[in-house]
Amino acid sequence: MIEIKDKKDCCGCTACASSCPKKCIAMESDKEGFIYPVIDLNRCVHCNICEQVCPQDKKNICTNTIPETVVARDKREKILSIGTSGSIFTSVIECVLAEHGTVYGVIVDGDNTVKHIRVDSLEDRRLSKIPCSKYVKSEIRGIYPQVKADLQSGRKVCFSGTPCQVAGLKCFLRKDYSNLICVDVICRGNPSPLFWKRFTEYLEKKYKSKIVDVRFRNKTYGYHSGTMKVSFENGKVYYGSARTNYYLRAFFEDLCSRPSCYRCQFKHIQHMSDLTLYDSWHASELADLQDDDKGYTNIIIQSPKGRKLLDELKTIEKHPVDTLKAVELDGVMVENSVKWNEKRDVFFDSIEDENIKCHCSKFMTVSFKDRIIESAKRIYYYKKFNG
Ligand SMILES: Cc1cc2nc3c(=O)[nH]c(=O)nc-3n(C[C@H](O)[C@H](O)[C@H](O)COP(=O)(O)OP(=O)(O)OC[C@H]3O[C@@H](n4cnc5c(N)ncnc54)[C@H](O)[C@@H]3O)c2cc1C
Repeated sequence: MIEIKDKKDCCGCTACASSCPKKCIAMESDKEGFIYPVIDLNRCVHCNICEQVCPQDKKNICTNTIPETVVARDKREKILSIGTSGSIFTSVIECVLAEHGTVYGVIVDGDNTVKHIRVDSLEDRRLSKIPCSKYVKSEIRGIYPQVKADLQSGRKVCFSGTPCQVAGLKCFLRKDYSNLICVDVICRGNPSPLFWKRFTEYLEKKYKSKIVDVRFRNKTYGYHSGTMKVSFENGKVYYGSARTNYYLRAFFEDLCSRPSCYRCQFKHIQHMSDLTLYDSWHASELADLQDDDKGYTNIIIQSPKGRKLLDELKTIEKHPVDTLKAVELDGVMVENSVKWNEKRDVFFDSIEDENIKCHCSKFMTVSFKDRIIESAKRIYYYKKFNG
């Protein structure tokens, strides 16, 4: 029977709860907003399936083979402008749905919840919300059994998520499916859905309007200075980079991630996925490309299935590069977990007690200089794009 003695040992993937034959494991939120398995001992039959499917400590994916890497991006300017780095996932979606497959990806829902969804049609209006990184632990309860049902029906299925979510899915499935393709992203850490909820409530109150769209890393001010863009129903738009935006700041200062992210078990070049995506900050050095500040993605090709899919993506430009050099230049998060921030637990202790901006200001300082630099940046980019 699964027993979480240390929260750093549970990535919250839901493989245990989804596998329980007695359905006696519930994934419940703790006071930080992260979900953990809670077992109804009266119904548990001690079959130990939950332990067997837990992806933690399953290190058998490590081999000595170094997979290939390409630096890539979508050739279509409009698509490139909306993705996080090279906007690879839009092309993946189009390819899979064109073959009547199903795509699982992450969106920000109408109530600002960040969650996994299932899409099986190019007409689905939620499709455009799937690309772009959402720096929040996504709600994934109930998704693995849906993936399994799709796989068993013979459909092609593409699942995208963090490395722990892909590993959780693979462990839950307990067998290889030739019709499954997994795409994961290198992940710094997964911030708390509760913190995100409090932050969006604060923004909606401040702007006196509902949020209609969120881009965690918008390229209005260029790829390299990724900025959060939040659009409101009343037409107002908020921009804030990690210099002045407390949410992004807390993420990059490692104040708000799930405990398991500080001892992440999935920090290897090799993953259980077929393709692994991460930011290519040094595309110009890696592949002798011109850095036009529009973004490139490093793609690690983890399997022959990944290679085949990549070959089918005709709207993507691809440049083979040295995997180890790419990891050295861009991939600090490929092989390393983030360091534990000593203030993290105190940050969560009182997260519900006061206005979230006041709360954050006790842990992070946004100086006058930061605000000046942020304003100057906007003027610079306005002039750059408007002459
Ligand atoms: C929480 C998180 C942390 C990250 N940390 C790093 C990092 O430290 N270093 C780095 O180089 N790259 C990191 N990335 C990846 C990076 O932000 C880009 O996603 C990557 O470069 C691919 O960009 P793209 O434009 O090609 O992908 P896009 O076309 O924008 O597609 C993004 C994909 O990510 C999936 N996704 C979005 N949000 C989530 C989520 N919350 N959980 C699971 N899946 C999600 C979407 O379903 C989609 O498939 C992180 C991504 C996430 C979600």
